[in-house]
Amino acid sequence: MSVDDNTPVLRGCIKLPLPEDELLEVTAKAKDYAIMHGAAMRSKTNFSPDSLNFAPFVLVPSSFPRKEFEKAIALQPIINRLMHNVAHDEEFITTTLAETIKVDEFTANLFNIYRKALAHGFTQPISLGMLRSDLMLESRCRDMSMCSSSSSGGKDNDAKEKQEAKAKKTTKAYSVGLLRSDYLAHVYEGCAIKQVEINTIASSFGGIATHLVPMQKFVLQELGHSDKLQHMPKNEALSGLCDGMVKAWDIYAKPQSVILFIIEDVSYNICDQRFHEFYIRETYPHIKVLRRTLTDVHREGKLGQHKELLLNNTEVAVIYFRAGYEPGHYPSQGEWDARYLMETSLAIKCPSIHYHLAGTKKVQQALAQPAVLERFINDPEEIKAVGKIFTGLYSLDDNEAGNANYEMALQTPQNFVLKPQREGGGNNVYGLDIPDALKRMSRVERSAWILMDLIHPPLSQGYMVRPGGKMPPEIVDMVSELGIFGVVIGDADHIVHNYQAGHMLRTKLSTANEGGVAAGLGALDSPYLIDSDDEDGYF
Ligand code: ADP
Ligand code: MG
Repeated sequence: MSVDDNTPVLRGCIKLPLPEDELLEVTAKAKDYAIMHGAAMRSKTNFSPDSLNFAPFVLVPSSFPRKEFEKAIALQPIINRLMHNVAHDEEFITTTLAETIKVDEFTANLFNIYRKALAHGFTQPISLGMLRSDLMLESRCRDMSMCSSSSSGGKDNDAKEKQEAKAKKTTKAYSVGLLRSDYLAHVYEGCAIKQVEINTIASSFGGIATHLVPMQKFVLQELGHSDKLQHMPKNEALSGLCDGMVKAWDIYAKPQSVILFIIEDVSYNICDQRFHEFYIRETYPHIKVLRRTLTDVHREGKLGQHKELLLNNTEVAVIYFRAGYEPGHYPSQGEWDARYLMETSLAIKCPSIHYHLAGTKKVQQALAQPAVLERFINDPEEIKAVGKIFTGLYSLDDNEAGNANYEMALQTPQNFVLKPQREGGGNNVYGLDIPDALKRMSRVERSAWILMDLIHPPLSQGYMVRPGGKMPPEIVDMVSELGIFGVVIGDADHIVHNYQAGHMLRTKLSTANEGGVAAGLGALDSPYLIDSDDEDGYF
């Protein structure tokens, strides 16, 4: 929905369309490759614990500007540190969420656990953060300096002139006189990454994304494009994330203890989860992984003498939440009690409750306000670099600023996305639907939501392959969202591990607001890196 006729199209990895017979053959091979290598999921429509469908995928990797990809990778340790510091800032979390918890019951329940844990003192000072920073490319710019894809851009006059000349060239090619008037009347010659959200709980797809790179490489080889493989960056998300859990297990330092995955009642995204579990056992044969729902933990869990978490007398060192991020995961008070039990235990949590709260949309919105980053990051260059990836985020609290933002949303809804404090997709309100949604809320209810500038990613074109989909697949217009994983381990005073841990790319139909892979409009993908100084530029 954030695309129109003027949206630029990234140049593709290979020339399309493919001849029909070749397309049929390679798609059939790719489907089997996906199933056989675990790029797969349980079917929602035809569920069976005994079978898998391939996960929706894009046949040929989608293009992504190399500079922006590398920028995202380089920023991740800074973002890890930022989120770690935010999570440990009691005053910031408390004031930022003060209005939200008055009306949002789910966030209030999480906050209650936080408050109680604070009152008793955290039993386990160490947290394990396994984050995913989600980014989209902004292809339109209000101001060249704001979106410059080169860090030196704009200072040097020659460079600036060159950049503007290039921008004019692009303008002509895309007749952007028709663009919205609040943007400069040109399409930027490049694209700049903007943060969609930061996930601090259940950051998924590290497993499948790792296995998708070889799959798309296989497809390119089958199509006679081995020369292209070098432009697909290596992806070590699975090992990076699992090693993070094992580092936390090492810190806990009890040889008989296990890693506990908290799971939903039914795990559709089973391969992604199992990849983590199997990798841990294969690489660290002495470590066992248990899988339990919140309901199971309520039934089986108790605290030992030193507040160790015991599940039928097995001690848990690390808890990895793949569930617990939405109200449906807590059907009764028992599940909330289980969450509290785990929070007060000695186990290292991913995430601990303060990390979970730091990942709320409200905190993301607060972080994007002027001068707030200075509270958490010391280095001015880092503040600038992180600030550049933020897009406009606006509070809807019941105060002067919030009410002005409310008016702005009513007047120009097409520029915005409205987001509640929820995770997992399907909760946002887009563009022209915003006024009605806002008008249905009371002033107080509005404070549980935030408003965000709509990002306008460039298009890519390719074949999206879905279980039960048309064969051969048709070429469709798509947009992508890059997720960068990060691992951070430490307590309030020290960070002991902090690294970037691979990536994932999700691609959706350009007409879709959201691209949940399991939900039906998104597909798994990996980036094919392109350079703007190549003969053809990005577009
Ligand atoms: P969730 O926690 O439900 O994943 P997100 O903030 O990630 O919420 O939003 C869900 C999806 O909506 C994103 O994956 C993206 O496709 C789309 N989206 C979110 N924010 C924006 C935005 N500012 N501009 C364009 N699309 C967005
Ligand atoms: Mg998301």
